Amino acid sequence: MTDPFDLVVRGEVVSADAIIADGYVAARGGRIAAVGQGATPPALRTLDHRGHLILPGLVDGHMHTSSSIGWEGIEGATRSAAAGGVTTCVDMPYDVPRPVTDAGVLAEKIAVVERTAHVDMALYGTIRKTGGVDAIAGLAAAGISAFKLSTYEYDPVRFPRIDHLTMLAAFREIAKTGLPVAIHNEDQELVDRLTAEARAAGRTQPIMHARTRPPLAETMADQDIFELGLATGAHVHIAHSSLARGFSIAAGFRAQGARATGEACVQYLCMTEADLERLGGRGKCNPPFRNPEEVELMWAALLDNKIEYVSTDHAPWPLARKTDADIFACGAGLIGLQSFAPLMLTLLDERGLSPTLMARLCAARPARLHGIGDRKGGLRPGLDCDLLVLERGEFAFDQAAIVDRPELRWSPYHGRRMRARVVATVLRGQVIWDGQTVLGRPGEGKFLRRATR
Ligand SMILES: [Zn+2]
Repeated sequence: MTDPFDLVVRGEVVSADAIIADGYVAARGGRIAAVGQGATPPALRTLDHRGHLILPGLVDGHMHTSSSIGWEGIEGATRSAAAGGVTTCVDMPYDVPRPVTDAGVLAEKIAVVERTAHVDMALYGTIRKTGGVDAIAGLAAAGISAFKLSTYEYDPVRFPRIDHLTMLAAFREIAKTGLPVAIHNEDQELVDRLTAEARAAGRTQPIMHARTRPPLAETMADQDIFELGLATGAHVHIAHSSLARGFSIAAGFRAQGARATGEACVQYLCMTEADLERLGGRGKCNPPFRNPEEVELMWAALLDNKIEYVSTDHAPWPLARKTDADIFACGAGLIGLQSFAPLMLTLLDERGLSPTLMARLCAARPARLHGIGDRKGGLRPGLDCDLLVLERGEFAFDQAAIVDRPELRWSPYHGRRMRARVVATVLRGQVIWDGQTVLGRPGEGKFLRRATR
């Protein structure tokens, strides 16, 4: 083919299994047309990022754009994603005022995505606390990427606990669809009793958030959900494990024939209880941060290839919800989209690990689990030309640089030294972030239907 490419981006090309020094990615019609090395092929536009890393645009497999203000949150969150090199957002269904519990609600959410999103989005679906199992087949047919259920109740409507028998019935239906079901894994009884005791004793300081959600609260829930998965054939996925044991439990169930996987969030690869004490409400998320020894065990699990993928669990609560002196009064969840790529590269770098792990765990693997790997998550000809360009250096993460709504410009990583920053983001062959400004417009993001099972 002698026609020039639409776009060529030059740099160190980092895919899931190799780095091409002095390489390039070429796009035509929004898709990757070639990946190569050496002289720049003819193109209508060339971006010279020699010396910078070019990765697949990240696929964040777990976030909550709409837990706080509803679907209005999609625009700002995806703007922040664009500035952070996250080109695919997989959004949770626990939205206010209505979670995504049937194909009708899903259709309405898809319309908002296509009107307001800056990057592409796949969507989870869920079920109502009772009587929701019948909607499962319709949600799958309408293109959700996965289901999400919880063993722990934050809110009976938005984020309900699904009891064991309802979960069993749901898993049977979900197994027929072939879709994975991600589970928020905390044991309600344990957490509620410990929390009530702490509150009654007036112990509401930050560390009590971790003390009232001990490792056992997670691992007990892990056992329950994987037993239900084994009994039904459903692919059960731990939505976030803060513990290496979660991944060992999943591996144990896989060895028994279950489809069992688990996900880590980037915060569980670096944050500790000391950070919870330092940050107070801004360090509150569920499950909580653990101790430094656990962080090391998490890295061992990652290097042992036990972690399916790494996500953010981005949950944009306004700062006003995170500053109460009573830790139990603060919202649970961290802002993490825009810091995701720099932080992940930094953590790998600090351990002398290759950025190929980031291409694998933060792009290829989540794309595969969510059934969008035919379009997203890699640097192969035919896939969408979604790119993250990172400049190495010494930078301090500045929460003021977050491009979401003003009340969401806070970060648990404020001031942290980063070894990289995002200097460009490309979505389907278009530059949507140039290192300074979000260039894309709301509505340029598209809904991604699950294609593969
Ligand atoms: Zn979450």
